[in-house]
Amino acid sequence: MSDKPKERLIEHDNVALMGAAARSVWLARWPNFLPEEMACKGTGALKISPRLLDGLQRLRADVATTLVINSAYRSPAHNAAVGGAPNSWHVQGLAADISLRTVPRWRLVRAACAAGFLGIGLYDSFVHLDFGARRLFDRRHATKGILPDWLRQHFAAANFNNGDKNEQR
Ligand SMILES: [Zn+2]
Repeated sequence: MSDKPKERLIEHDNVALMGAAARSVWLARWPNFLPEEMACKGTGALKISPRLLDGLQRLRADVATTLVINSAYRSPAHNAAVGGAPNSWHVQGLAADISLRTVPRWRLVRAACAAGFLGIGLYDSFVHLDFGARRLFDRRHATKGILPDWLRQHFAAANFNNGDKNEQR
């Protein structure tokens, strides 16, 4: 991974103080997402990958409905406070958790694969998506990790590995 060019993140210490020019550049490229939705819920800091935002915009175009972002960037302190993995992709600005309130799980997962997301994590009320490492993990309470056939076949066809306990959520 170290041979990859380092990606330039969008960074603001406090999203509320983001200037009008930066905001209009943002909205021209990602019209369906506000900077506030991507900022840390604990600190208001924003540190987010354009690659993630491009992926979310593709996802949004595919599902054609509002995507509710439960969590995107997390500052290290906030990430620890909410019990995130210390090396979480959220802290690196490469992950977002999408609520299942407006879109069914199967629809979201299918669109996420088509949009090129690498990491996909299933939870009871949301789906975790990232551009960190290619893997699938299942953290739903009721399923004990058992995936429905359609999903297992889908991931097998796409060469997804099952994430282990150390995956970076
Ligand atoms: Zn997540």
